[in-house]
Amino acid sequence: MSDKHNKVLVIGSGPAGLTAAIYAARAELEPLVIEGMQPGGQLTITTEVENYPGFPDGIMGPELMQVTKAQAERFGTRFIFDEVSGVEIGDRPFKVITKSNGELTADALIIATGASAKLLGLPSESKLMGFGVSACATCDGFFFRDKELVVVGGGDTAIEEAVFLTKFASKVTVVHRRDELRASKIMQQRAFDNPKIHFEWNSNVTEILGTTDGGVTGVRLKDTVSGTEREFPTDGVFMAIGHRPNTDIFADKLDLDEVGYIQTVPGTTRTSVEGVWACGDAQDSVYRQAVTAAGTGCMAAIEAERWLTEQGTH
Ligand code: NDP
Repeated sequence: MSDKHNKVLVIGSGPAGLTAAIYAARAELEPLVIEGMQPGGQLTITTEVENYPGFPDGIMGPELMQVTKAQAERFGTRFIFDEVSGVEIGDRPFKVITKSNGELTADALIIATGASAKLLGLPSESKLMGFGVSACATCDGFFFRDKELVVVGGGDTAIEEAVFLTKFASKVTVVHRRDELRASKIMQQRAFDNPKIHFEWNSNVTEILGTTDGGVTGVRLKDTVSGTEREFPTDGVFMAIGHRPNTDIFADKLDLDEVGYIQTVPGTTRTSVEGVWACGDAQDSVYRQAVTAAGTGCMAAIEAERWLTEQGTH
């Protein structure tokens, strides 16, 4: 096996990729993980994780990823900090083209490239991310007990997050850029029926106000009809303008759904190309939790190992 060839290559280093690596390494497949530009994935941009089993007192997202990486390294996983610019998976061995390490090859490929929350792109939004700005209500809602919150967006995610946040917050205001929600009717009704949920229609958030010391204090809203701007007080802002699976490099190579999620054979992590598996948020538009990502990462490694054994490669 040359330096460039791998039995198993894992693209991505969030809970899915790292769990796939632990299982593949324990099966003596010496996996190589290409970490991507955000090693550890989305958990590294959240604070405390309280719903990952095994940590009764919670654990910080970045720490959870550090210890999971150490666990993968313990069994011989190799890591490179690099980004994949393209793949050639029409023939085997598969080719993975990286930005810094050139072309790598693999007998089996596990895709764990995750998804990214869409953001508005405001400087104040990135500055206050984790300090009152969040893109994950299930991760961070608990920290806003009896507080007033803003949810930005008008789709199912925004409404689902708004409804979830009313478990903790005293008031949740959905800020939407139009005067009509995109969310499904049933979700809309759920929101309209909830006395804690309010709406600011025809409004764009143009700035998030606050400091990294004191947290969020408000947002600046611009009326999309009149163009006028005003300040709206809030203790926290949840961005819910959609997620985007990080699967651009697989377009035309794998079957993706209309949004871009990798399609897998139900009940498995098998993709439309034999020898290529997909796990975590890159193929999951429903649960999007660290523990489900880890679960599908485990599935991908087990399926890959069995397949390699059948192929006589392992
Ligand atoms: P969507 O693309 O459906 O909605 C995104 C929302 O964010 C839209 O209301 C959009 O406004 C708004 N938006 C997008 N970009 C901006 C921006 N730059 N500034 C302000 N607002 C913006 O994404 P979702 O994540 O809500 O849903 C994705 C898919 O997942 C959908 O098919 C949805 O049905 C599904 N889903 C289903 C759930 C369920 O059934 N329980 C739960 C969550 C998601 P506009 O409407 O003007 O375009």
